[in-house]
Amino acid sequence: MAKKQFKSESKRLLDLMINSIYTHKEIFLREIISNASDAIDKLCFIALTDDKLGMTRSDFNIFIEADKDSRTLKITDNGIGMDKDDLENNLGTIANSGSFKFKNELEEKPDDIDIIGQFGVGFYSAFMVAKEIVVNTKKYGCDTAYCWQSSGADGYTITEIEKDGIGTEIILTLKDNTDDENYDEFLEQYRLQSLVKKYSDYIRYPILMDVKKSRVKEETKDSDKPEYEDYTERETLNSMIPIWQRPKKDVKQEEYDRFYNEKFMAADKPIKTIVTSVEGVVTYKALLFIPSTAPYDFYSKDYKKGLQLYSSGVLITENCEELVPEYFRFVRGIVDTADLSLNISREMLQHDRHLLTIAQNIEKKIKNELTSMLKNDRENYEKFFAAFGRQLKYGVVADYGMHKDELQDLLMFYSSTEKKLVTLSEYVDRMKEGQERIYFATGETAAAIDALPQTEMLRSKGYEILYCTEDADEFTLQTLMMYKEKRFCSATNDDLGIESDDEKTEDEKKDSTALLTFVKETLGDKVAEVVESKKLVSHPVCLTAKGGISFEMEKYFNAVQPGSGMKAQRVLELNMNHTAVKNMEALIQTDVDKAKKYAEVLYSQALLIAGLPLENPSEYTDLVCSLM
Ligand code: ADP
Ligand code: MG
Repeated sequence: MAKKQFKSESKRLLDLMINSIYTHKEIFLREIISNASDAIDKLCFIALTDDKLGMTRSDFNIFIEADKDSRTLKITDNGIGMDKDDLENNLGTIANSGSFKFKNELEEKPDDIDIIGQFGVGFYSAFMVAKEIVVNTKKYGCDTAYCWQSSGADGYTITEIEKDGIGTEIILTLKDNTDDENYDEFLEQYRLQSLVKKYSDYIRYPILMDVKKSRVKEETKDSDKPEYEDYTERETLNSMIPIWQRPKKDVKQEEYDRFYNEKFMAADKPIKTIVTSVEGVVTYKALLFIPSTAPYDFYSKDYKKGLQLYSSGVLITENCEELVPEYFRFVRGIVDTADLSLNISREMLQHDRHLLTIAQNIEKKIKNELTSMLKNDRENYEKFFAAFGRQLKYGVVADYGMHKDELQDLLMFYSSTEKKLVTLSEYVDRMKEGQERIYFATGETAAAIDALPQTEMLRSKGYEILYCTEDADEFTLQTLMMYKEKRFCSATNDDLGIESDDEKTEDEKKDSTALLTFVKETLGDKVAEVVESKKLVSHPVCLTAKGGISFEMEKYFNAVQPGSGMKAQRVLELNMNHTAVKNMEALIQTDVDKAKKYAEVLYSQALLIAGLPLENPSEYTDLVCSLM
C-alpha cells in the first residue's frame, strides 16, 4: 500500500521531534494520555445522552502496558476513537492538531529546541522516543476499524483492521538505545508510574497498569523461612481528583500541608494556605501557600519562583514565573485554568491575556491575605516577616521604587519605643504633636543603635526611632522617601527638623564660636564642619552626615566596591555641657598643644561610635597614651 506524505508543516515538526535533543522527552506520555482523556471526554458526553451506548462514567479508563521483549509501549483508551477521515485530518495534518500554533514559532526560531517539551506539543512528540507508531482505532458509530502506521518522516499508511470495541490503542516501538540515550527506561514500571504521577496525576479517568509486585506465599506465611512469589495487580496510577478541585470545607488543613510538603518538597508547615476559585472573564482555581521559613536557597539565584500551571488537570509547566511578581516570589502553589490551551509555547504564554489577568488577581489575593494576617494574626505575620521581609524590602527598592505603594504597608521596622517590630502606619499614627519627620537610625543591632549618641536627644525627648539593622532597611526608607506625607529622616542627619528649646545669650554664643573654630582648624579637611550639638546629652561628641550620602551608604559602597571613594561629609557635633569639651576649652588658653590633642581624640571617638574606621589607629593610641 502506497505511503501518504505528511503535509509540509507537519513534516517539519516531525523532523524536529525525531531529531530532538530535548531532554524532556518524557513528556510524550503526558501528550498521549491527554489525548486519550480528551477522547474519553467526548464519548462520555455522548454517553450522557445516548442510553444505547450502555456506558457510564466509571466504565472509562486509560490503560498502559509495557512489553520489554518487543520494546513496545501501548496506551489504550475507550474514548471516541477515529475513523479514516479523522486519522487523515488529525494525525496526518498538523494544522488540525494543537501543535499548529507551535509551528509558527518555529518559523522564526528553528534552533530553539527548548520551546518543545514544557508545553503541549501533541501527538508527534511520541516520535521523540518511538521509531514506529501504530494507532489502532474504531470510532463510535462506525463498523470499520483502522490502523494508522508511521515510522516518521517518510509518511504513513492507513489500513482496515478488525478491532473489538470503540476506542484507540497507540503502540509505540521505542527507538534503539544509543550511547547517550536509554529509551528502555520508558518500559520500566517505576518510571511509568512516576511519569503519570508527575504529569497526569489529575486526569479525571483512571490510568491503569498491571503492576508487578511480590508477596509472601500464603502457605509459608507462618514458617521461619517465608517464600516469596510474584503477582500482578491492576493499579490506578493517578489520584484523579486534584486537591484544589475539592471544596475547601471538605479538605483538612493536614491534607493541604501534606500536599504542600510533597508537591514542593518543603519541610515546613505553610503559614498560610490560600484557596481561591474564580469564575468570570477568566475561570481558574488556585491553591497557594505562604511558607513559614525561607528555603535555604531562597535568597540565591538558584531559587526558581513561579506557580505550577495546569490546564484542566494536566500539568503545563512546573514554574510559570509570570504568575507571581518578584516581590512575592516566596509563594508556592498551583493554578488550574481551562482557559488555556495545552498547546501553548512559552513565548505565547508570556503574552497570554488570560494568564496576565490571573496573575493580577493572584497578586491582589496575596496582598490581601498578607494585609489581613498583619491585622488579625500579628504573631504569624512577624514570623512571616522574619523569613521574607527582606524580599518585600527588595521589592520596594527594585525597579526604581515602582512597587513601593503596593508594598509599604507590609513593611515592619524595629521601634525604639515599642521595642518590637512596628508598621509605618503605626508609627505615623502615634507621632508627637508637631513632629514632621519619621526618624530612623542605622546600625548592626538594636543595642548598638541604642548606644549611638546621635539618637540620644531624640530618645530623651520621647521621639520614636525606627532601627535599621538589616542591609536593605535604609535603602528601603530612602526609596520610600515619604510615608503619608511625612519625610524619613536619619538620626545622624545634621538637621533633624527640631527647634532647640534652650536659648543662648550672645556671650555664650561667642564663646562657643571660638571653640568651634579652634576645633575645625585643628582637624582641617577631616571634617566639613564643627557645630554645637543639639542632640547630645551624655556623650561629648558625635558625627553626623551632611548632604545626600549617609554613613551607612558610605560603609555599604566601600564594602561592595572597595576604593569607590564614596564618602559622607562629616559634621562633628560637640556637646558644650560635657566636661571633656569644657576641659578642652579651658586648655586653649593654658596649653594649646594639649587642647589640639583633645580635639583629635574626640574626633577619633566620634568615628568609632559611628562605626567608621580610624584613619590611623596607632596614631590614635599613641595620642591617648600621651595624655594619660
Ligand atoms: P490536540 O490534542 O491539541 O488536538 P494532538 O496532536 O495531541 O493535538 O492530537 C491531534 C488530534 O488527534 C486530536 O485533536 C484528536 O482529534 C486526535 N487524537 C489523538 N489521539 C487520540 C485518541 N487517543 N483518541 C481519539 N482521537 C485522538
Ligand atoms: Mg493533544
